[in-house]
Amino acid sequence: MMELPRAAGVVIVGGGVMGASLAYHLALRGRRDVLVLERGQVFGQGATGKCAGGVRHQFGSEINVRLSIESIRMLERFPTELGQPIQLNYCGYLFLLTRPEDVAAFQRNVALQHGLGVETEWLQPSEIQRRLPLLRLEDVLGGTYYGRDGLTDPNSVVAGYVGGARRHGATLLTDVEVTGLKLRGARVISVCTSQGDIDVETVVNAAGPYAGDVGRMLGLQLPIWPLRRQMLVTTPLPEVPADFPFVIDFAPGLYFHREGAGLLTGQSNPNEQPGFDESVDLEWERQHLALAVQRFPLLEQAGLAHHWAGLYEMTPDAQPLIGPLAPLSNAYIVAGFSGHGFMHGPIAGKLLAELMLDGRTSTLDISALSPQRFAGAEETTSREYNVI
Ligand SMILES: Cc1cc2nc3c(=O)[nH]c(=O)nc-3n(C[C@H](O)[C@H](O)[C@H](O)COP(=O)(O)OP(=O)(O)OC[C@H]3O[C@@H](n4cnc5c(N)ncnc54)[C@H](O)[C@@H]3O)c2cc1C
Repeated sequence: MMELPRAAGVVIVGGGVMGASLAYHLALRGRRDVLVLERGQVFGQGATGKCAGGVRHQFGSEINVRLSIESIRMLERFPTELGQPIQLNYCGYLFLLTRPEDVAAFQRNVALQHGLGVETEWLQPSEIQRRLPLLRLEDVLGGTYYGRDGLTDPNSVVAGYVGGARRHGATLLTDVEVTGLKLRGARVISVCTSQGDIDVETVVNAAGPYAGDVGRMLGLQLPIWPLRRQMLVTTPLPEVPADFPFVIDFAPGLYFHREGAGLLTGQSNPNEQPGFDESVDLEWERQHLALAVQRFPLLEQAGLAHHWAGLYEMTPDAQPLIGPLAPLSNAYIVAGFSGHGFMHGPIAGKLLAELMLDGRTSTLDISALSPQRFAGAEETTSREYNVI
């Protein structure tokens, strides 16, 4: 096992997609002494490892559409750039809309997406039924589809960034828990870990659903909280075609996509309370399946292959915090992606690396994602509507 260094230039707390992407982009740009500390035995087994792997352009805020455009381009280049296949599969995302207010909101979203070059299609129920005869759609008023949305493999993306960061000189360690952060005035001077203390120039909070805990170590109350989400995969269903899209029944937060030979399905529980519980709520799973079978009757013929729960990292406007953590002079954050962070991991790491190395971002303006936006003085970004 590699020994813990006693000093580092940048310590990144958390080795999920955010920590790994940031480490890679900092090291690629020549930043020396980058150290990632992950308390798990393996990188990327937090929210990243629990996620559904969905990547989409279909959002309701300009910043999220732009983040997706950049990030999905980076995923396309990933195998060439990082030497790691990631199984990017453009199966498309199809949103089913059953409420007039969602139809109106999605029509606005489609106009926004078109304005940014994302050619989302508006589909009538008859067209959806023609494309997806396995679904029951009596209550559906319309839908949206974009064929360059899809799925990719989270573990491969993390592995690619971990390997790439190491090749460029970064150190990434598992089994090291950050237990405290020592401050002198407005500066973090050392990181306390389960293996000893490290003198540090700069610290980054990339702790996903635990970003609030790391914030408290810095003496800050961050507006990020954990929220349980769960899903299951069925036994094989050969009737589901290979090109079946990622289908989202928007109003109840119900979704399906192919996973291996079976089907992955999940539903967001609107009554879930913030907390770190990652056990599967069997009562919610029963309710979810009862609804899922109504939409997708074939599910009645399937068995349960496996199920799991993970944690979203929620913020008040369902948008992430990326940037410096004022009033501290040497602390940053990249967290709070509110259920759609895996797909934005590549660009988020690149943008924070730009901010840390150049003092500003050049790829995209992310002032709307400033960690200070909830403090009152600065403008707040609008809430992302298209959250599952
Ligand atoms: C069920 C589910 C489905 C999802 N589906 C999608 C999807 O389809 N598409 C999508 O884009 N997003 C999805 N998401 C969201 C996505 O998974 C997250 O937004 C993203 O993975 C967050 O990455 P992260 O690196 O910030 O967090 P994480 O992956 O949780 O990484 C943070 C890491 O920090 C470590 N850590 C925490 N505290 C400490 C400490 N004190 N010391 C050392 N290490 C520490 C943790 O062990 C963890 O590995 C889903 C999430 C869930 C839960």
